[in-house]
Amino acid sequence: MSFSRPTPADACPCCSGLDYADCCQPILDGAPAASPEALMRSRYTAFCTGRREYLLKSWHPSTRPGSLELDPDRQFTRLIIHDSSFPVDPATPATVWFTAVYRTPAGKGRQCEKSVFLFVDGNWTYLGEAPPAL
Ligand SMILES: [Zn+2]
Repeated sequence: MSFSRPTPADACPCCSGLDYADCCQPILDGAPAASPEALMRSRYTAFCTGRREYLLKSWHPSTRPGSLELDPDRQFTRLIIHDSSFPVDPATPATVWFTAVYRTPAGKGRQCEKSVFLFVDGNWTYLGEAPPAL
């Protein structure tokens, strides 16, 4: 299997209901995400479409892995955002709680995570999974 690349008029892979061109595409192409949730959605879309460089770029420098391998057999099929915060003070960490549903040759799976995002140099970045207390 390989990663699909949506066209601008396709429905955005992040399940927002918007066209790709009006949702994650500009962010993947370098525009800053307007909120932690938008950044989270763009990273989900990057996982769907195999945008490894973007995933590394949008990772917080302190937790960014040196390299990243994406599994094309893990096909993400649905993103559900349960809750997200957008702190007034950008120095405060933001959280997005989500479930990502995927399919592999072995069957269906889901990843449920509360992620932490930090604002760095004008861009939201992914720090990592929140500790259970957050
Ligand atoms: Zn999107």
